[in-house]
Amino acid sequence: MTVTVHGLAVSRGVAIGRAVIVAATRLDVAHYFITPDQAEAEIERLRRARAVVVEDIVKVQQSLHELGSHDAHPELNALLDVHLMLLQDEQLTGAVKHWIRDRHYNAEWALTSQLEVVARQFDEMEDPYLRERKADLEQVVERMLRVMRGVGSAVAAPASDGRSGRETPLVLIAHDLSPADMLQFKQSVFTGFVTDVGGKTSHTAIVARSMDIPAVVGARSASHLIQQDDWVIIDGDAGIVIVDPSPIVLAEYGFKQRQGEVERERLQRLKSTPAITLDGQKIELLANIEQPEDAVAALKAGAVGVGLFRSEFLFMGRNGQLPDEEEQYQAYRRAVEGMQGMPVTIRTVDVGADKPLERNVVRENDYLNPALGLRAIRWSLADPAMFLAQLRAILRASAHGPVNLLIPMLAHVSEIRQTLALVQRAREQVAAAEQAVGEVRLGAMIEIPAAALTIPVFLRHFDYLSIGTNDLIQYTLAIDRADEAVAHLYDPLHPAVLRLIADTIEQANAQGKPVSVCGEMAGDVAMTRLLLGLGLRSFSMHPTQILAVKQQILRSDTSKLAAWAKTVLAADDPAALVVD
Ligand code: PEP
Ligand code: MG
Repeated sequence: MTVTVHGLAVSRGVAIGRAVIVAATRLDVAHYFITPDQAEAEIERLRRARAVVVEDIVKVQQSLHELGSHDAHPELNALLDVHLMLLQDEQLTGAVKHWIRDRHYNAEWALTSQLEVVARQFDEMEDPYLRERKADLEQVVERMLRVMRGVGSAVAAPASDGRSGRETPLVLIAHDLSPADMLQFKQSVFTGFVTDVGGKTSHTAIVARSMDIPAVVGARSASHLIQQDDWVIIDGDAGIVIVDPSPIVLAEYGFKQRQGEVERERLQRLKSTPAITLDGQKIELLANIEQPEDAVAALKAGAVGVGLFRSEFLFMGRNGQLPDEEEQYQAYRRAVEGMQGMPVTIRTVDVGADKPLERNVVRENDYLNPALGLRAIRWSLADPAMFLAQLRAILRASAHGPVNLLIPMLAHVSEIRQTLALVQRAREQVAAAEQAVGEVRLGAMIEIPAAALTIPVFLRHFDYLSIGTNDLIQYTLAIDRADEAVAHLYDPLHPAVLRLIADTIEQANAQGKPVSVCGEMAGDVAMTRLLLGLGLRSFSMHPTQILAVKQQILRSDTSKLAAWAKTVLAADDPAALVVD
């Protein structure tokens, strides 16, 4: 039966594929395809893992027996029996072969796919005792995965495109994905994503957008409603997920999917066209990147530089082992060299809020409002040694090409002073070590209303400004950008937000200091004309959005848009004038 689930549209396009449900705890399991002739070797790995786990359990039972504690621990013994029984159960281990032989999944992926199927059957059981056995099942699977981790696959996980050779497209369905998880899936087999939670500008959504594959977040109960292997359509434009579609609906979406592909190909023609408006205004189109390797996509899309390198992605999902100066330097250097002489804006680390350092760190360890807590520059200033290492790494990278240093989340003049003092100290340290440094411009993100309301202070201390609309909206409207429950109130066109953006641009322009927008608004074609009208001449966005925004720019006349933007600014309901 067809079911439609509504969520938030985060990444455009249509994906049609079979569902792969991944539990949050299994996100680090490798997902890749094997070739048919590798199937038996993968099945053998599973068999061996099962044998090792069975042997371990039997050994524990024997030692309990020898110690005479067999009878003293009847519950433990019964539990071990349950584990043994589950390991022998065809439902789990027998059916895994289907995923390997017929679907060509690697062993770990096959095992966790079948775990999802059986776990659901447990969830539906009436008897509470049996229902609770799900936890045992998860434990035995976890033990097998651990054994398999020790005994690597003879089949190497593909380094890049794991999609190769398989015909059935797959879409990933998860309750939640952290931004670091999302990054891990960047080079994966999946052609679409759905998550139960998340807002439109949550960092998970941002990474999904950078991957340019259809995604829907905030789809609430999707991971419960959708079953492993269901056929699913993800409409990333409308924010809906259609489960088990009828042939007519499938045909309709197949058509829409092809139309989208044709449109993208058509846009490719604009790649080398300069971004100049009808009235001759030259517009700078920059790329937002998360990893040095993204420079390739930035160049391919015709970006004239990187306007935001979110350096925190180098820091996340590493079990607390932060990258040292040398590792960071090498990463920044790769990005700088990758951009072939074009400027790279490296933002100092912005962890906290919805970008935890560790994967799946739940917020209970944090304060109640992590977005208002120790995040971004606040975190850096709280650990000067770590911050200095990052600053030195960035300064050293500037020896290989133009670098702009960008500081996130500043609000207080005291933070500005501390930051500048540390930048100065880092310069001295690099000079003392006789390491080469190029020219580095220093910029501040304007993403807290307090900053937007004190622009003259920022203009006095910085060479350029970059408006982070994602956070500026969140903090102006008191809306958690990652919370789907209040997503309907997250409004880039709220008059208060527009006023702050307009004033920032106007004051920077008046002083001849560069100002850019690097939040998601910059890549939203519905906002391009308005931002041009407000005087913006530099936009930074995911490489995948650049050509569509360029198309808007080529059709725009800023001399007309300026007057129109004034009426939008004065309106009670700007959306009525902007969104057609
Ligand atoms: C922003 O806040 O708009 C921004 C670009 O930074 P981030 O999305 O990483 O918080
Ligand atoms: Mg921000």
